[in-house]
Amino acid sequence: MKFSTATVFVCMATAANAFAPASTISTSNSVSNSASALSMSGVTRNPNFAKLAGGYLFPEIGRRRNAYLEANPDQASRIISLGIGDTTMPIPPHILSGLVDGATKLGTKEGYSGYGAENGLASLRQKIATVLYNDLISPDEVFVSDGAKCDIMRVQQMFGSDVVSAVQDPSYPVYVDTSVMMGQTGEIDKATSQYDNIVYMPCNAENEFFPDYASLPRADVVYFCSPNNPTGAAATKAQLEGLVKTCTERGSILVFDAAYAPFIRDPDVPKSIFEIEGAKECAMEVNSFSKYAGFTGVRLGWTVIPAGLKFADGTPVKQDFSRVMSTAFNGASIIAQGGGLACLDPEGQAEIEVLIDYYLGNAALLKEAMQSIGFKTVGGDNAPYVFVQLPEGKSSWEMFSEILEKAQVVTIPGAGFGPGGEGYLRLSAFAPRDNIIEAITRLKAVMV
Ligand code: PLP
Repeated sequence: MKFSTATVFVCMATAANAFAPASTISTSNSVSNSASALSMSGVTRNPNFAKLAGGYLFPEIGRRRNAYLEANPDQASRIISLGIGDTTMPIPPHILSGLVDGATKLGTKEGYSGYGAENGLASLRQKIATVLYNDLISPDEVFVSDGAKCDIMRVQQMFGSDVVSAVQDPSYPVYVDTSVMMGQTGEIDKATSQYDNIVYMPCNAENEFFPDYASLPRADVVYFCSPNNPTGAAATKAQLEGLVKTCTERGSILVFDAAYAPFIRDPDVPKSIFEIEGAKECAMEVNSFSKYAGFTGVRLGWTVIPAGLKFADGTPVKQDFSRVMSTAFNGASIIAQGGGLACLDPEGQAEIEVLIDYYLGNAALLKEAMQSIGFKTVGGDNAPYVFVQLPEGKSSWEMFSEILEKAQVVTIPGAGFGPGGEGYLRLSAFAPRDNIIEAITRLKAVMV
């Protein structure tokens, strides 16, 4: 295979520039710099990766923040992040003791264990089924993992490239990006910012941020997140009953993302899709300890696949997911699982309530502040996100930049979650309370 030296250099430099902060990009054409760029394999790039419209959203936010700080280094100490939904409060004592115990055991002859059960400790699966699902599901339908994001990719690997996926628009970017990587989609349409062969389910003020799937083309797999990232909208029981009914009638599999379930305070909002009749024949659920207990860095999640969920040929979906997990995953960290067990003790549950109340308190402050200066909002009641509707004609990336430059507050533009998020800004309630209060003062000054 022959490569043109000049072409290779230009291509490699362009690819590298996509994420490098402006000041680190070399404009030099020096041959010595290009030497390593010239050595390349003869392997064709997976064409699906070339379809991806840009980098993953959150690193892109970080890149813009860093570019701003490089140009304005004196502002570094003023930056407040209401951006990425990462927890900031320390892990509470009882839950921490579970992690410590998990680690301590590894230092003893009796307590040491190597590779664990692929699907997670039996005790943890039992506790998840009983404490979090009131035994609506059985422990052997639970797959413990290193997190919901990783499970979404593994779910996609199981479905393969021949399915059509539907996503809420706007939505957590992982559903779309993994669909593209798997080769389920065509190219992105630059005019609509939508990928060909994905069903976008609009969620907006007109439909109270709940999509009307029945009026849209059928998809094989429907990704649905409630309480929602980024809108903060939480679907009611009646809404989810409608969705389960439509998925059942159409033979679609619902992948329900319940990562924000612990934030639900409204008794009419189900914490799990399995509270809905008929869901065990049409749905699976991905979930995570990340937002429950500040485990974003610990890494522990789970997926529930009911035995009654089957593919068109009758094969249980659980069987194929188990095959993916046992092939591509070697079990969640035994230390993290110790922490998970402690989360589900009564003391751990009480600690989680305190953490969630704290973040919900932040969300209430953000919501009230935005409304007090005349913005319409959604979310913030049963979710740690407040989605703010911007004035007509104001683009979300414009607002993001204005707030960063004038208030040194990092937010997330709604458009980063899909074209349906244009005209909105997402505020995350995961910052410490002092930062929330200071950010509110600054936002009020620049957004009015
Ligand atoms: N699902 C949604 C909707 C999320 O917003 C996130 C993280 O922000 C995740 C899943 C990822 O969870 P985990 O940390 O378990 O990978």
